[in-house]
Amino acid sequence: MKQTATIFSVKRFAVHDGDGIRTTVFFKGCPLRCTWCHNPEGLAATPQLAYYAHKCLSCGECVAACKSGAHRIEKGLHHYEKEACTACGACEDSCLGNALAFFGRRMTVAALLPTLLEDIDFYRSSGGGVTLSGGECLCQADFCAALLRELKAADIHTAVDTCGFVPRAALDQVMPYTDIFLYDLKAVDEEVHQACTGRSNKQILENLAYLDACGKTIEIRIPYVPGYNDGEIEKMAKLLSPMKQVRRVRVLPYHNYAGSKYTALGLAHTLPPTLPTAEAIAAAEACLRAYGLHV
Ligand code: SF4
Ligand code: SF4
Repeated sequence: MKQTATIFSVKRFAVHDGDGIRTTVFFKGCPLRCTWCHNPEGLAATPQLAYYAHKCLSCGECVAACKSGAHRIEKGLHHYEKEACTACGACEDSCLGNALAFFGRRMTVAALLPTLLEDIDFYRSSGGGVTLSGGECLCQADFCAALLRELKAADIHTAVDTCGFVPRAALDQVMPYTDIFLYDLKAVDEEVHQACTGRSNKQILENLAYLDACGKTIEIRIPYVPGYNDGEIEKMAKLLSPMKQVRRVRVLPYHNYAGSKYTALGLAHTLPPTLPTAEAIAAAEACLRAYGLHV
């Protein structure tokens, strides 16, 4: 229980991260670099401060809170120097304008559990539970296994949302305490996957086949991104249709709401320009259904 993980958010009453009402724990660090990533605060494994300049009131409260001199007021205006920031998190609560957001608190299982147990009645009445997500939660697999074990001891439904680009041993660690894997699938074609995520999909496809062979319940989640992986749907349908444990496939339309987070974190924008149409999503879903998949 003394083990710690770096966590950037705990979201209660989540309804898009598995069945029912859930609490989702977002872990820092991801091995992929999807161009459309909507959680850029989850990419780096280490803590980060985001600064939303448009919200800043230039009140100067953060100047006293920061021992590293990353904040200063000059001629009545606030300046933030990212290079000086050591990501200690001390300034976040001082900010009167909610212009500062700190991502990446170190937490123990014992510190996290009370929040996760708080909504147990809602989990029971809605068929929900707790989802581990990210980033890639299985980059911190020891902690995930310890946390999931506690959740199962409390008879809570558990879901692990993974990109699959993880060592087989990480899956083995969490498998006994995981009710369902929410498995992200971006492309079947190796070159397309490389272009979309910067990484090979070999390990991802092997791990998916492994989970299926192990008899673990799987929900596939396909981010649909025009100009990137929209030509992959039928290949995915062919790959998934023979699998025994894929109980559902979800097509997730790409959105670009995360733009301001990239700016606030000082990251280069990678978000694709084109949003999918409702017709394109419907056609993708129809294609998957045509292969006998529950969409
Ligand atoms: S996170 Fe810490 S080091 Fe960075 S600006 Fe805030 S107080 Fe300063
Ligand atoms: S405390 Fe927040 S609102 Fe005030 S100057 Fe600092 S960043 Fe801006």
